[in-house]
Amino acid sequence: MRIFEFIRPPDPAAAIATAAQSKTAQQGADVRFMGGGTTLIDLMKLNVETPARVLDINRLPFDKIETTSDGGLKIGATVRNSDLAYDKTVQLAYPVLSQAILQGASAQIRNMATVGGNLLQRTRCVYFRDTAMPCNKREPGSGCPAITGHNRTLAILGASEHCIATNPSDMCVALAALDATVHIQGPKGIRRVAFDDFHLLPGSTPERETVLEPGDLITHVTLMPPFKRSRQVYLKLRDRASYEFALASAAVVLTIGSGTITQARIALGGVGTKPWRSPEAEAALKGKPANDATFREAAEVVLQGAKPQSENRFKIELAKRCLTHALRTAAA
Ligand SMILES: Cc1cc2nc3c(=O)[nH]c(=O)nc-3n(C[C@H](O)[C@H](O)[C@H](O)COP(=O)(O)OP(=O)(O)OC[C@H]3O[C@@H](n4cnc5c(N)ncnc54)[C@H](O)[C@@H]3O)c2cc1C
Ligand code: SF4
Repeated sequence: MRIFEFIRPPDPAAAIATAAQSKTAQQGADVRFMGGGTTLIDLMKLNVETPARVLDINRLPFDKIETTSDGGLKIGATVRNSDLAYDKTVQLAYPVLSQAILQGASAQIRNMATVGGNLLQRTRCVYFRDTAMPCNKREPGSGCPAITGHNRTLAILGASEHCIATNPSDMCVALAALDATVHIQGPKGIRRVAFDDFHLLPGSTPERETVLEPGDLITHVTLMPPFKRSRQVYLKLRDRASYEFALASAAVVLTIGSGTITQARIALGGVGTKPWRSPEAEAALKGKPANDATFREAAEVVLQGAKPQSENRFKIELAKRCLTHALRTAAA
Protein backbone atom coordinates (compact mmCIF):
# COMPACT_ATOMS: atom_id res chain seq x y z
CA MET A 1 0.00 0.00 0.00
CA ARG A 2 1.28 3.48 -0.84
CA ILE A 3 2.03 5.71 2.16
CA PHE A 4 -0.69 8.35 2.38
CA GLU A 5 -1.64 11.39 4.45
CA PHE A 6 -4.79 10.93 6.57
CA ILE A 7 -6.74 14.16 7.08
CA ARG A 8 -9.87 15.02 9.10
CA PRO A 9 -11.23 18.18 7.47
CA PRO A 10 -13.09 20.42 9.96
CA ASP A 11 -15.96 21.26 7.61
CA PRO A 12 -17.31 20.49 4.09
CA ALA A 13 -15.62 23.56 2.56
CA ALA A 14 -12.18 22.40 3.72
CA ALA A 15 -12.85 18.86 2.46
CA ILE A 16 -13.95 20.14 -0.94
CA ALA A 17 -11.03 22.57 -1.29
CA THR A 18 -8.51 19.79 -0.61
CA ALA A 19 -10.19 17.25 -2.89
CA ALA A 20 -10.43 19.85 -5.66
CA GLN A 21 -6.60 19.68 -5.95
CA SER A 22 -6.93 16.13 -7.34
CA LYS A 23 -6.62 15.87 -11.14
CA THR A 24 -9.61 13.55 -11.26
CA ALA A 25 -12.42 12.24 -9.07
CA GLN A 26 -12.38 8.99 -11.01
CA GLN A 27 -9.92 6.04 -11.15
CA GLY A 28 -6.43 7.23 -10.23
CA ALA A 29 -7.61 10.11 -7.99
CA ASP A 30 -4.78 11.25 -5.71
CA VAL A 31 -7.20 12.66 -3.10
CA ARG A 32 -10.08 10.50 -1.87
CA PHE A 33 -12.89 11.03 0.61
CA MET A 34 -13.39 8.15 3.01
CA GLY A 35 -16.74 7.03 4.43
CA GLY A 36 -16.65 3.55 5.97
CA GLY A 37 -13.52 2.67 3.99
CA THR A 38 -14.86 -0.80 3.11
CA THR A 39 -14.25 -0.25 -0.61
CA LEU A 40 -11.46 2.32 -0.49
CA ILE A 41 -9.11 0.69 2.02
CA ASP A 42 -9.72 -2.72 0.44
CA LEU A 43 -8.59 -1.38 -2.94
CA MET A 44 -5.67 0.56 -1.42
CA LYS A 45 -4.37 -2.69 0.07
CA LEU A 46 -4.44 -4.17 -3.45
CA ASN A 47 -2.76 -1.04 -4.92
CA VAL A 48 -5.75 -0.56 -7.22
CA GLU A 49 -6.35 2.79 -5.49
CA THR A 50 -3.23 4.77 -4.55
CA PRO A 51 -4.35 8.17 -3.20
CA ALA A 52 -1.70 10.42 -1.63
CA ARG A 53 -4.33 11.96 0.67
CA VAL A 54 -7.41 10.40 2.30
CA LEU A 55 -10.02 12.76 3.76
CA ASP A 56 -12.10 11.23 6.55
CA ILE A 57 -15.56 12.79 6.14
CA ASN A 58 -17.23 10.98 9.03
CA ARG A 59 -17.29 14.06 11.28
CA LEU A 60 -19.00 16.23 8.67
CA PRO A 61 -22.70 16.98 9.31
CA PHE A 62 -24.19 14.42 6.93
CA ASP A 63 -25.28 11.68 9.31
CA LYS A 64 -29.04 12.34 9.55
CA ILE A 65 -32.15 10.79 8.02
CA GLU A 66 -34.85 13.47 7.87
CA THR A 67 -38.35 13.83 6.46
CA THR A 68 -38.55 16.66 3.90
CA SER A 69 -41.28 19.32 3.83
CA ASP A 70 -42.97 17.59 0.85
CA GLY A 71 -43.11 14.22 2.66
CA GLY A 72 -40.02 12.73 1.03
CA LEU A 73 -36.80 11.62 2.73
CA LYS A 74 -33.33 13.24 2.98
CA ILE A 75 -30.57 10.75 3.70
CA GLY A 76 -27.13 12.08 4.68
CA ALA A 77 -24.09 10.74 2.83
CA THR A 78 -22.42 9.39 5.98
CA VAL A 79 -25.51 7.56 7.25
CA ARG A 80 -24.47 3.93 7.79
CA ASN A 81 -26.13 1.32 5.61
CA SER A 82 -27.42 -0.50 8.74
CA ASP A 83 -28.96 2.65 10.20
CA LEU A 84 -30.72 3.34 6.91
CA ALA A 85 -32.00 -0.22 6.54
CA TYR A 86 -33.47 -0.24 10.07
CA ASP A 87 -34.88 3.29 9.99
CA LYS A 88 -38.62 3.06 10.75
CA THR A 89 -39.67 5.41 7.92
CA VAL A 90 -37.58 3.48 5.43
CA GLN A 91 -38.97 0.16 6.59
CA LEU A 92 -42.56 1.39 6.32
CA ALA A 93 -42.53 3.70 3.30
CA TYR A 94 -39.52 2.51 1.26
CA PRO A 95 -39.21 -1.19 2.17
CA VAL A 96 -37.48 -2.01 -1.13
CA LEU A 97 -34.51 0.07 0.06
CA SER A 98 -34.33 -1.65 3.43
CA GLN A 99 -34.59 -5.09 1.78
CA ALA A 100 -31.85 -4.29 -0.77
CA ILE A 101 -29.39 -3.02 1.83
CA LEU A 102 -29.95 -6.01 4.11
CA GLN A 103 -29.24 -8.42 1.26
CA GLY A 104 -25.82 -6.82 0.65
CA ALA A 105 -22.45 -7.66 2.20
CA SER A 106 -22.42 -8.68 5.89
CA ALA A 107 -23.74 -7.10 9.10
CA GLN A 108 -20.24 -5.87 10.00
CA ILE A 109 -19.69 -4.24 6.60
CA ARG A 110 -23.17 -2.64 6.62
CA ASN A 111 -22.38 -1.18 10.06
CA MET A 112 -19.37 0.63 8.55
CA ALA A 113 -20.51 1.35 4.97
CA THR A 114 -22.03 4.76 4.22
CA VAL A 115 -24.61 5.87 1.68
CA GLY A 116 -22.07 7.98 -0.26
CA GLY A 117 -19.55 5.16 -0.31
CA ASN A 118 -22.13 2.61 -1.46
CA LEU A 119 -23.00 4.84 -4.43
CA LEU A 120 -19.32 4.74 -5.41
CA GLN A 121 -18.39 1.14 -4.69
CA ARG A 122 -16.28 -0.38 -7.46
CA THR A 123 -16.78 -3.42 -9.65
CA ARG A 124 -15.80 -6.86 -8.41
CA CYS A 125 -14.33 -7.82 -11.83
CA VAL A 126 -11.32 -9.98 -10.90
CA TYR A 127 -9.04 -8.31 -13.44
CA PHE A 128 -9.79 -4.85 -12.08
CA ARG A 129 -8.68 -5.99 -8.63
CA ASP A 130 -5.44 -7.65 -9.86
CA THR A 131 -2.74 -5.13 -10.78
CA ALA A 132 -0.73 -7.87 -12.56
CA MET A 133 -3.46 -7.93 -15.25
CA PRO A 134 -4.41 -5.37 -17.89
CA CYS A 135 -7.73 -3.57 -17.34
CA ASN A 136 -9.11 -0.57 -19.22
CA LYS A 137 -10.94 0.65 -16.14
CA ARG A 138 -7.79 0.67 -14.00
CA GLU A 139 -5.23 1.47 -16.74
CA PRO A 140 -7.01 3.09 -19.71
CA GLY A 141 -5.89 1.59 -23.02
CA SER A 142 -4.38 -1.58 -21.50
CA GLY A 143 -7.19 -3.89 -22.69
CA CYS A 144 -10.09 -5.88 -21.27
CA PRO A 145 -9.10 -9.50 -20.53
CA ALA A 146 -12.59 -10.23 -19.17
CA ILE A 147 -14.07 -10.25 -22.67
CA THR A 148 -12.12 -13.41 -23.54
CA GLY A 149 -11.62 -14.55 -19.94
CA HIS A 150 -13.65 -14.95 -16.76
CA ASN A 151 -16.89 -13.09 -17.32
CA ARG A 152 -19.53 -15.29 -15.67
CA THR A 153 -20.53 -12.55 -13.19
CA LEU A 154 -20.14 -9.59 -15.54
CA ALA A 155 -22.63 -7.42 -17.41
CA ILE A 156 -25.07 -8.27 -20.19
CA LEU A 157 -26.61 -4.77 -20.36
CA GLY A 158 -24.76 -1.51 -21.07
CA ALA A 159 -21.35 -3.05 -21.81
CA SER A 160 -18.92 -1.81 -24.46
CA GLU A 161 -15.97 -3.32 -26.29
CA HIS A 162 -13.79 -1.59 -23.67
CA CYS A 163 -15.41 -2.84 -20.46
CA ILE A 164 -18.11 -5.31 -19.41
CA ALA A 165 -17.89 -4.82 -15.64
CA THR A 166 -21.04 -5.05 -13.53
CA ASN A 167 -22.03 -2.43 -11.00
CA PRO A 168 -22.20 -4.53 -7.81
CA SER A 169 -24.41 -2.42 -5.53
CA ASP A 170 -27.73 -3.67 -4.14
CA MET A 171 -28.70 -0.38 -2.48
CA CYS A 172 -28.30 1.50 -5.77
CA VAL A 173 -30.80 -0.79 -7.53
CA ALA A 174 -33.45 0.20 -4.99
CA LEU A 175 -32.48 3.88 -5.24
CA ALA A 176 -32.84 3.65 -9.04
CA ALA A 177 -36.34 2.18 -8.70
CA LEU A 178 -37.25 4.86 -6.14
CA ASP A 179 -36.12 7.59 -8.57
CA ALA A 180 -33.72 9.08 -6.01
CA THR A 181 -31.77 12.31 -6.44
CA VAL A 182 -28.07 12.67 -5.57
CA HIS A 183 -27.03 15.99 -4.01
CA ILE A 184 -23.46 17.15 -4.60
CA GLN A 185 -21.46 20.06 -3.20
CA GLY A 186 -18.33 20.97 -5.14
CA PRO A 187 -15.93 23.81 -5.93
CA LYS A 188 -18.53 25.31 -8.31
CA GLY A 189 -21.42 25.09 -5.83
CA ILE A 190 -24.32 22.77 -5.16
CA ARG A 191 -26.07 20.61 -7.73
CA ARG A 192 -28.53 17.74 -7.86
CA VAL A 193 -28.36 14.80 -10.24
CA ALA A 194 -31.17 12.36 -11.07
CA PHE A 195 -30.11 8.89 -9.93
CA ASP A 196 -30.23 7.44 -13.42
CA ASP A 197 -27.79 10.12 -14.64
CA PHE A 198 -25.30 9.72 -11.78
CA HIS A 199 -23.56 6.53 -13.00
CA LEU A 200 -22.12 6.49 -16.53
CA LEU A 201 -22.01 3.71 -19.10
CA PRO A 202 -18.43 2.56 -19.80
CA GLY A 203 -18.32 3.47 -23.51
CA SER A 204 -14.69 4.19 -24.43
CA THR A 205 -13.89 5.65 -20.98
CA PRO A 206 -14.62 2.92 -18.42
CA GLU A 207 -12.31 4.61 -15.90
CA ARG A 208 -14.97 7.33 -15.63
CA GLU A 209 -17.86 5.82 -13.65
CA THR A 210 -19.89 8.79 -12.43
CA VAL A 211 -20.49 12.47 -13.15
CA LEU A 212 -18.29 13.50 -10.19
CA GLU A 213 -15.52 16.07 -10.77
CA PRO A 214 -12.53 16.85 -8.49
CA GLY A 215 -13.73 18.20 -5.14
CA ASP A 216 -17.31 16.95 -5.57
CA LEU A 217 -18.66 15.70 -2.27
CA ILE A 218 -21.95 13.78 -2.12
CA THR A 219 -23.83 15.41 0.76
CA HIS A 220 -27.10 13.50 0.69
CA VAL A 221 -29.65 11.56 -1.34
CA THR A 222 -33.34 12.45 -1.43
CA LEU A 223 -36.37 10.28 -2.10
CA MET A 224 -39.72 11.50 -3.36
CA PRO A 225 -42.78 11.04 -1.14
CA PRO A 226 -43.74 7.35 -1.35
CA PHE A 227 -46.51 6.23 -3.68
CA LYS A 228 -49.60 5.57 -1.58
CA ARG A 229 -50.31 1.84 -1.13
CA SER A 230 -47.30 0.85 -3.25
CA ARG A 231 -46.05 -2.73 -3.10
CA GLN A 232 -42.27 -3.02 -3.02
CA VAL A 233 -39.93 -5.99 -3.40
CA TYR A 234 -36.17 -6.49 -3.78
CA LEU A 235 -35.22 -9.95 -4.98
CA LYS A 236 -31.56 -10.97 -5.21
CA LEU A 237 -30.31 -14.17 -6.86
CA ARG A 238 -26.73 -15.24 -6.11
CA ASP A 239 -24.46 -18.25 -5.82
CA ARG A 240 -24.96 -18.58 -2.06
CA ALA A 241 -27.59 -17.28 0.34
CA SER A 242 -25.54 -14.58 2.06
CA TYR A 243 -22.36 -12.52 1.78
CA GLU A 244 -22.37 -12.74 -2.02
CA PHE A 245 -22.93 -10.27 -4.87
CA ALA A 246 -25.97 -10.56 -7.15
CA LEU A 247 -25.96 -12.55 -10.37
CA ALA A 248 -29.31 -10.88 -10.99
CA SER A 249 -31.55 -8.77 -8.80
CA ALA A 250 -34.74 -6.79 -9.23
CA ALA A 251 -36.21 -3.82 -7.37
CA VAL A 252 -39.91 -3.39 -7.97
CA VAL A 253 -42.28 -0.61 -6.86
CA LEU A 254 -45.86 -1.23 -8.00
CA THR A 255 -49.27 0.24 -7.37
CA ILE A 256 -52.27 -1.84 -8.37
CA GLY A 257 -55.93 -0.83 -8.46
CA SER A 258 -58.75 -3.30 -9.24
CA GLY A 259 -56.25 -5.78 -10.65
CA THR A 260 -54.63 -3.23 -12.99
CA ILE A 261 -51.10 -1.83 -12.60
CA THR A 262 -51.37 1.94 -12.21
CA GLN A 263 -47.69 2.75 -11.45
CA ALA A 264 -44.49 0.75 -11.94
CA ARG A 265 -40.85 1.47 -11.18
CA ILE A 266 -38.37 -1.22 -12.15
CA ALA A 267 -34.60 -1.58 -11.81
CA LEU A 268 -32.26 -4.55 -12.19
CA GLY A 269 -28.93 -5.29 -10.52
CA GLY A 270 -26.13 -7.77 -11.22
CA VAL A 271 -26.65 -7.58 -14.97
CA GLY A 272 -25.84 -3.99 -15.95
CA THR A 273 -22.75 -1.81 -16.05
CA LYS A 274 -24.78 0.57 -13.90
CA PRO A 275 -27.90 0.11 -11.77
CA TRP A 276 -30.37 -0.68 -14.55
CA ARG A 277 -33.61 1.30 -14.45
CA SER A 278 -35.98 0.24 -17.21
CA PRO A 279 -38.54 2.82 -18.38
CA GLU A 280 -39.45 0.38 -21.17
CA ALA A 281 -40.50 -2.30 -18.69
CA GLU A 282 -42.40 0.30 -16.68
CA ALA A 283 -44.33 1.32 -19.80
CA ALA A 284 -45.01 -2.35 -20.58
CA LEU A 285 -46.57 -2.79 -17.11
CA LYS A 286 -48.60 0.39 -16.71
CA GLY A 287 -52.31 -0.05 -17.42
CA LYS A 288 -51.99 -3.83 -17.82
CA PRO A 289 -53.55 -6.58 -15.71
CA ALA A 290 -51.32 -7.67 -12.83
CA ASN A 291 -50.76 -11.25 -13.98
CA ASP A 292 -47.92 -13.55 -15.00
CA ALA A 293 -48.30 -12.86 -18.73
CA THR A 294 -47.81 -9.12 -18.13
CA PHE A 295 -44.85 -9.69 -15.81
CA ARG A 296 -43.06 -12.01 -18.24
CA GLU A 297 -43.68 -9.57 -21.12
CA ALA A 298 -42.05 -6.76 -19.08
CA ALA A 299 -39.06 -9.01 -18.35
CA GLU A 300 -38.69 -9.78 -22.08
CA VAL A 301 -38.69 -6.04 -22.79
CA VAL A 302 -35.88 -5.28 -20.30
CA LEU A 303 -33.63 -8.04 -21.58
CA GLN A 304 -34.25 -7.67 -25.29
CA GLY A 305 -31.03 -5.67 -25.78
CA ALA A 306 -28.90 -8.02 -23.64
CA LYS A 307 -25.49 -9.04 -25.03
CA PRO A 308 -24.08 -12.09 -23.27
CA GLN A 309 -20.38 -12.97 -23.04
CA SER A 310 -18.86 -16.47 -23.28
CA GLU A 311 -19.73 -17.49 -19.69
CA ASN A 312 -22.83 -15.50 -18.77
CA ARG A 313 -25.59 -16.26 -21.29
CA PHE A 314 -27.48 -17.89 -18.39
CA LYS A 315 -27.98 -14.42 -16.89
CA ILE A 316 -30.54 -13.49 -19.55
CA GLU A 317 -33.07 -16.10 -18.44
CA LEU A 318 -32.05 -15.69 -14.79
CA ALA A 319 -32.76 -11.95 -14.90
CA LYS A 320 -36.10 -12.51 -16.64
CA ARG A 321 -37.17 -15.00 -13.99
CA CYS A 322 -35.88 -12.75 -11.22
CA LEU A 323 -37.96 -9.78 -12.40
CA THR A 324 -41.04 -11.91 -13.11
CA HIS A 325 -40.90 -13.45 -9.64
CA ALA A 326 -40.30 -10.07 -7.95
CA LEU A 327 -43.36 -8.66 -9.74
CA ARG A 328 -45.47 -11.70 -8.88
CA THR A 329 -44.44 -11.41 -5.20
CA ALA A 330 -45.19 -7.68 -5.12
CA ALA A 331 -48.61 -8.21 -6.70
CA ALA A 332 -49.63 -11.14 -4.44
C1 LIG B 1 -16.48 -8.59 1.38
C2 LIG B 1 -17.46 -7.58 0.85
C3 LIG B 1 -18.70 -7.98 0.39
C4 LIG B 1 -19.62 -7.03 -0.08
N1 LIG B 1 -20.84 -7.45 -0.55
C5 LIG B 1 -21.70 -6.53 -1.04
C6 LIG B 1 -22.99 -6.92 -1.54
O1 LIG B 1 -23.36 -8.09 -1.54
N2 LIG B 1 -23.80 -5.95 -2.04
C7 LIG B 1 -23.43 -4.64 -2.04
O2 LIG B 1 -24.20 -3.79 -2.49
N3 LIG B 1 -22.22 -4.25 -1.60
C8 LIG B 1 -21.37 -5.16 -1.10
N4 LIG B 1 -20.15 -4.76 -0.65
C9 LIG B 1 -19.73 -3.38 -0.88
C10 LIG B 1 -20.08 -2.46 0.24
O3 LIG B 1 -21.47 -2.23 0.22
C11 LIG B 1 -19.31 -1.17 -0.04
O4 LIG B 1 -17.93 -1.46 0.21
C12 LIG B 1 -19.75 -0.04 0.81
O5 LIG B 1 -21.09 0.29 0.58
C13 LIG B 1 -18.90 1.20 0.54
O6 LIG B 1 -19.21 2.18 1.50
P1 LIG B 1 -18.06 2.87 2.34
O7 LIG B 1 -18.68 3.98 3.11
O8 LIG B 1 -17.27 1.88 3.11
O9 LIG B 1 -17.19 3.46 1.15
P2 LIG B 1 -15.68 3.95 1.15
O10 LIG B 1 -14.79 2.77 0.98
O11 LIG B 1 -15.42 4.87 2.27
O12 LIG B 1 -15.69 4.82 -0.18
C14 LIG B 1 -15.93 4.24 -1.47
C15 LIG B 1 -15.68 5.31 -2.51
O13 LIG B 1 -16.60 6.37 -2.35
C16 LIG B 1 -15.93 7.62 -2.17
N5 LIG B 1 -16.78 8.39 -1.25
C17 LIG B 1 -17.25 7.96 -0.06
N6 LIG B 1 -18.12 8.86 0.44
C18 LIG B 1 -18.18 9.88 -0.45
C19 LIG B 1 -18.92 11.10 -0.51
N7 LIG B 1 -19.76 11.46 0.46
N8 LIG B 1 -18.75 11.92 -1.58
C20 LIG B 1 -17.90 11.56 -2.58
N9 LIG B 1 -17.17 10.42 -2.57
C21 LIG B 1 -17.33 9.59 -1.53
C22 LIG B 1 -14.57 7.27 -1.66
O14 LIG B 1 -13.62 8.27 -1.99
C23 LIG B 1 -14.30 5.97 -2.39
O15 LIG B 1 -13.82 6.23 -3.68
C24 LIG B 1 -19.25 -5.67 -0.13
C25 LIG B 1 -17.99 -5.27 0.35
C26 LIG B 1 -17.10 -6.20 0.84
C27 LIG B 1 -15.76 -5.73 1.33
S1 SF4 C 1 -14.51 -5.75 -17.62
FE1 SF4 C 1 -13.85 -3.65 -17.16
S2 SF4 C 1 -13.05 -3.86 -15.10
FE2 SF4 C 1 -13.06 -5.92 -15.97
S3 SF4 C 1 -11.07 -6.23 -17.02
FE3 SF4 C 1 -12.47 -5.40 -18.52
S4 SF4 C 1 -12.05 -3.21 -18.43
FE4 SF4 C 1 -11.31 -4.06 -16.52
